[in-house]
Amino acid sequence: MEHTKKAIQNFSPYKLANRFWKNCLLELNIDTEKQWANLNKNELHSIADFLTNCEINIQSKSTNKDEFVTAGGVALNEVDFKTMQSKIVPNLYFAGEVLDIDAVTGGFNFQAAWTTGFIAGNNIGE
Ligand SMILES: Cc1cc2nc3c(=O)[nH]c(=O)nc-3n(C[C@H](O)[C@H](O)[C@H](O)COP(=O)(O)OP(=O)(O)OC[C@H]3O[C@@H](n4cnc5c(N)ncnc54)[C@H](O)[C@@H]3O)c2cc1C
Repeated sequence: MEHTKKAIQNFSPYKLANRFWKNCLLELNIDTEKQWANLNKNELHSIADFLTNCEINIQSKSTNKDEFVTAGGVALNEVDFKTMQSKIVPNLYFAGEVLDIDAVTGGFNFQAAWTTGFIAGNNIGE
């Protein structure tokens, strides 16, 4: 396995979200500073068991806007929205989450990704 010298909290398997991964380790009482190479068999098994069998009880809905996890990205004034081409670098096109669209767009992030992807794709094709 790669990254055996890394502290386990700094390298999560399967690219799990960092916050989720650290909370898994806390829940399992595993020293988060321990290197991957130094985990014993029991700890490895407990991680595997937790990731495949843990039950998470939902207590309530979160506040509005919490779901908008991605802020920042390519500045909108640097993109030609008719083609999705960069105004700065010719032949470079952007679409979706990489753009700095950060607002209460609830449910419309997919739409933004599909629409900008469609426009970029068509213009790249030309
Ligand atoms: C928890 C959560 C819930 C969401 N719920 C909603 C919702 O209900 N409604 C809504 O409209 N939006 C929702 N969104 C937002 C929506 O998922 C994103 O806006 C949308 O998926 C962005 O699409 P995208 O194609 O731009 O990026 P992504 O879907 O992130 O796709 C990018 C792809 O590129 C790949 N990639 C990355 N780097 C490389 C590389 N170097 N080489 C090759 N491939 C690479 C990635 O693996 C990924 O498959 C949610 C987002 C999250 C995180």
